[in-house]
This record gives sequence, C-alpha cells and structure tokens, in this order.
Amino acid sequence: MNRTLNLTVFFIFFIFCLVLFANLTKNNEKIVKITKISKYSVSQILYGTGKQIKIKRIMMRNIFILLCMTAFFTFSSESQNDSLKSRAELCSYEETSLYKDIIRFLNYCKERSSEIKTETILTSAEGKEIPLVKLCGNKSKGKIKTKILIVSGVHSGEVDGKEASFVLIREILFGRLNYFLYNCDVFIIPTLNVDGNDKIDRYNRLSQNGPPGGVGLSDFPNGMNINRDYSKHEIPETEALIRNVINQYDPHIIIDCHTTNGSYHAYALTYAPPLNPNTNKRITGFLKNELFPFLTRDLFEKYKYRTQYYGNFRDDKKPEMGWETFNYRPRYSNNYFGLINRIGILSEGYSYLELKKRIDVTFKFVTGIIDYAARNGEKIRSIIEEADRDNIKRLKSRNNDSIAVTCELYEEKMPIEIYIGAVDSIKDAFNKGYTFKMKEDYEKLIYAKDFTNFRSSLSIKMPYGYLIPKQFKNVISNLKTHGIRIFTIKEHAKSDVEVFLIDSLHRSKSKFQAHYPLSIYGKYEKRSITLNKGDYFIPMDQVKSNLIPQLLEPLCQDGYVYWNFFDEYFELYSKENNIQYPVVRILSPVGTKTINFK
Ligand SMILES: [Zn+2]
Repeated sequence: MNRTLNLTVFFIFFIFCLVLFANLTKNNEKIVKITKISKYSVSQILYGTGKQIKIKRIMMRNIFILLCMTAFFTFSSESQNDSLKSRAELCSYEETSLYKDIIRFLNYCKERSSEIKTETILTSAEGKEIPLVKLCGNKSKGKIKTKILIVSGVHSGEVDGKEASFVLIREILFGRLNYFLYNCDVFIIPTLNVDGNDKIDRYNRLSQNGPPGGVGLSDFPNGMNINRDYSKHEIPETEALIRNVINQYDPHIIIDCHTTNGSYHAYALTYAPPLNPNTNKRITGFLKNELFPFLTRDLFEKYKYRTQYYGNFRDDKKPEMGWETFNYRPRYSNNYFGLINRIGILSEGYSYLELKKRIDVTFKFVTGIIDYAARNGEKIRSIIEEADRDNIKRLKSRNNDSIAVTCELYEEKMPIEIYIGAVDSIKDAFNKGYTFKMKEDYEKLIYAKDFTNFRSSLSIKMPYGYLIPKQFKNVISNLKTHGIRIFTIKEHAKSDVEVFLIDSLHRSKSKFQAHYPLSIYGKYEKRSITLNKGDYFIPMDQVKSNLIPQLLEPLCQDGYVYWNFFDEYFELYSKENNIQYPVVRILSPVGTKTINFK
C-alpha cells in the first residue's frame, strides 16, 4: 500500500469516527447501565436504535479514542513497513539494494529503536563508510549472551544475504524475532564490499536468476577477492573485518552468505562447515552432528526448502561419480573461522532459484541458526570455551598432536544422498539464454560418492612454537592482525629446532589474486641453534594456534611463502646452495628467562 492510499484510508476512517462520536454523544443524558453488552446488537449499542440504549460518556470517549488509535497505528505501521523494506522488496525483486538504501534503512531503524547501533569498520576506497550493525538490545543486561555475526556482500554480485539482512534487522527490531535479543547479540554486515555493490551491470553474474536489473561486482579492481584473502588479509575490507569485528567482538558463530552457481541440483541452499582438518573436532562435530541435521530437517519440514552440504558433481553426466566440496585452505571464510576456533558457516543460496526465494531461504537458514543459538547458548559457548582450552593446554599432550600441512579430498565410506535438479534457460531480448531458472517441480534422488571432507596428505608433529627473525616485520604485522600472540627473545639462548632446507623454488606463471604464488620444496633437518635477542617467538599454546602452521609452514599452499612474503629474502640468497627457510620450528620448551612475555 502506498503512502497516498494510506492517507486516504486514514482520512475516511477519521471522518467515520467523528460521525460515530457525534451519534453516540447525542443521546447521552439518559444513562442506562449496561450489564450484558453481548445481548445487544452492535448497532443497538452504538446508535441507540431499537431499545434506545445509551452508553456512558466515558465509555463512548474510550471507544472513540480506541478507534482513532487503531486508525493511527494502521497508518503508521504501513508507513513504517515501506521505510523498512529493501529496494528489492519495494520493486518486486527487479533490483537489488544500493549502498544508499542500506544507509537510509539503518538510519530509519536507529530513529525508532534503541536496540540497534552501528559503527563504521572501514571507509572504502571510494569513501563509503562500511557499517557494522549491532543488535545487542537492552534486554537481560549483564547476562552472558551468544554472539553471532552475519557477513554478506563479500561477493557483491551475490545479493541474497544483503537483501535478507533487511528482513532480519526488521524482524529482530520490530517483529516476531525480537526474542533473539534476550539470549543473543546479533552483529550484521549487510554488505562488506560496498564499492563493488553499486557497480550494477546486467552482465554481472549473467547466469544468476535475478534481479533482472543487474547486480554489483564481486572482485576488486585489482582482481582480488575477499573470500581468497583471509589468510593474508591484504584487502582493507578483509583486514577491517578481522581487526575491527572478529578480534573486537569475538563472535561464537560467523555466517558468510553467498550465492552459488554450478551443478544443477534441487537444493534451495547449500552450506559448508570449516573444511580444514586441523579445525577443532568439537566445532566440526557440532555442525555435522547437530546443527546442520537440525536445520536441514527444519527447513524442509516447515518450508519445503531442500538444503545440503555445498558441492558440485565431479561429472555432470555421471553424477553418481561424486559430490565434491571446494577447498580446505584458510583463505576461505569458513575455513579461516574454523581455524581461529569459531563456528564458521558458509551459506550459498542457489543461483538458479528466483531471487525472492533465495532471499527467503537465506533468511530462514540464518534465523534457524540464531534461533538454535538462542535456545542452546550455553552449549554453544561451552563448545568454544573447551576448544579454546584444548589449544591453550595443547603443549601438555604434544606427543599425540599432529598438524596437517597439506590436505586431500577423500571418499567417505557411505555415499551421500543427492537430489539432482534441472534448469530452464531464460530467453529474452537481453540475455539470449545465458540466464538459468531452476525447475522447481523436478528432482531425482541419487546416491553419489561423498567427497565433502578433507584429510591430511602431509602431517608434522606439533612444535612448541615458531621462531621468526626480527627483520620479517611484514610477517609479524600480519600475524598480529590475526590476533596471534607474539613474544620477543630477550636474551640469546640455545634451542633444539628444525630448519627447512630448500631444494628448489617454483613460481607460478599465472597471476592469482594479484600475486605470482611461490612454492618451495626441500626437507626439515634437526639442529641446535642460538635464539637471537630481538627475534620473535610464536608459541603454539594459544587460542588461534590451529591457524599458525597454516601461515608459517613452508609447504602450506596458503601461507606466507605462497603469498610472496619472503620473496626479497629468497631473491637475496637464491644464488647460494642450501637456502634455509628463515622461520624455524622450536622443538623444546623455551625458558621464561629467554622470552619477554610482555
Ligand atoms: Zn561467493
């Protein structure tokens, strides 16, 4: 209903109330006490026809006020509804929301609720302030709550999470989901790549089923992509997310909302847990055995939305040959969040499903998680506390602790149940068949080989920590942003270590994420060396220790070697034989006298 119509309806209703009031007050001298209103008809009570019923003035006034208030709230809530809608909702899902729509919406919410606050996590390259929305409420002050962060618009062309954020914020602040705030603090980034968001073009994500008005750009102008950047966080938006949101608020659950294309299946949404096998098993166990089975069942039983682990067919022509997930490396959000000991969840709306339903299923998936967290907060918080404790105490049982340095997909013993789907291509004057629409009435059940998990293909025994020579300030600075604890060696001391001796270096010929990634090969050798004053010591008994080897081990395909952090050093020593990788593994405890724990 538009605003003009609202005003008209309100005006007519107001006149009706006035006429009614005049009628009621005309015969108010002869007061008849009414004991049982129910035995009179409405017209008898209101107009005094038939038995000449009169009602007390006070009662009439109350009815009048009530009617006027009903009209007022009808009007004002309608007015609110329009202002609380996303651009997508207001234009029948023909367009997606722009940055200015997000800001307008948030300002409107802030004027009407004290349960929303926003802060700027970064000013983008184009000067836009990226908002973090904090729905922390005033309820249950002092109570320990479960903290949930929902990130959208990492890939700006994938708009489901951004549009669902409008509905989520509206329903939490003014609707039926306000109860979340008794047990949860909800943090929302409606769109992280704000500059990409407004670069609307109908050719962006052309195969995606809407909005027809086009979507923004997912990549940055230099070809970089936030969801390949978590390990090195070179993009300011990634760094701001880690530094100003994750480190600052330490959410227990982090949901990263995307939209996927790829194989034709019958799922409205697919999801992924952290895929790196070094992730604490309490986290992956909770997701695989509890949360995901619950959500999958709930979304189907209540709304008929099928959901499944993220994947694509290994061979589209022979789908039974395998349903395969994507990647275990920490450069991806869900893997990164898992390695820092938090419950990381990837949400992927199905690109070929119509936009309205993609937004709806994303909203329902996210609210299903928050609702679960609202009811099981203590359990979720204790999973995280125990996972943190495991890492802090890990040096005590070091002999049993191994770390996967490289990983491989493997086939699970049991096949996975997959519903195959189909699509129609949309042909119109513009897209000529390159856009696809899910055939919602088609599905076929098959059992495919299950390739949704990774295992170690190369493991090492966990060291006490790593030593980084003081000249590698770039490495230290990057580790610090991750929130990793770093200490300095305060006096020279002997230590047993393993050094990596490099046989060969191989630089990729193709550019990836604005880099020419480097791989090195060689072997570890045990030595006794002197730890030099001023060098850095990174101990393994800390909360984020599952991430540390992924960044510092020379054979990891997502660490600082790979991303060229040591290139200058390798350049300098490339002519020498037996170049040594400068970071070494510490094999024996380092005394407190040696380390400056400040
Ligand atoms: Zn994406």
